[in-house]
Amino acid sequence: MTRSNTASSLLAPLDTDLPPATVLLLQQVRACTLCAPYLPLGVRPVVQVHQAARILVVGQAPGIRVHQSGIPFDDASGERLREWMGITREVFYEPTRMAIVPMGFCYPGTGKSGDLPPRPECAPRWRQQVLEHLPHIALTLVIGQYAQAWHLPKSGKNSVTGTVERWQEFAPAVIPLPHPSPRNNIWLKRNPWFTETLLPELKVLVAKALA
Ligand code: SF4
Repeated sequence: MTRSNTASSLLAPLDTDLPPATVLLLQQVRACTLCAPYLPLGVRPVVQVHQAARILVVGQAPGIRVHQSGIPFDDASGERLREWMGITREVFYEPTRMAIVPMGFCYPGTGKSGDLPPRPECAPRWRQQVLEHLPHIALTLVIGQYAQAWHLPKSGKNSVTGTVERWQEFAPAVIPLPHPSPRNNIWLKRNPWFTETLLPELKVLVAKALA
């Protein structure tokens, strides 16, 4: 059964098959107000978690559209990410297959050059606890600098390009990616190896993890 309509909600009714400890954790996340004073549109954590999930997508933080819809990657970036992965929306929003846990769970606001970084309070407060409720992850997609700094400490002070170029060092369990935003079209043009070499392998790894 698909749950595409429930992915928008942190703790939808169909999540009753979650272990009580996971339900409790998600309730605690939903009640979090740790950095509320800094969130221009208020608290609205957007995550997709299920103990059966096989792939973990780690993004930056919700943008304004995701804040409004409550659906992670419900935008042009999400369309491109799904294309990169070779999967449909239905699969992407199936919590028993895909977990989506950004570095900051709430929309942090927008600055002069786009969305602000994820709130720094979020990862230390929640990240490890949430990841402990995902015991079956076979593949983690680590998108952008904040996610790479946390999940790939070995990447050191490398830029996103430098880290993504070294993707074979982290495969097959982890794949670093640039942000799939249309803002990165120039990056994609400048780095044709990404489309020619990494993306075909990514599709293979995604299919294997979901098999
Ligand atoms: S961004 Fe994270 S730490 Fe901040 S209020 Fe939202 S859930 Fe809590």
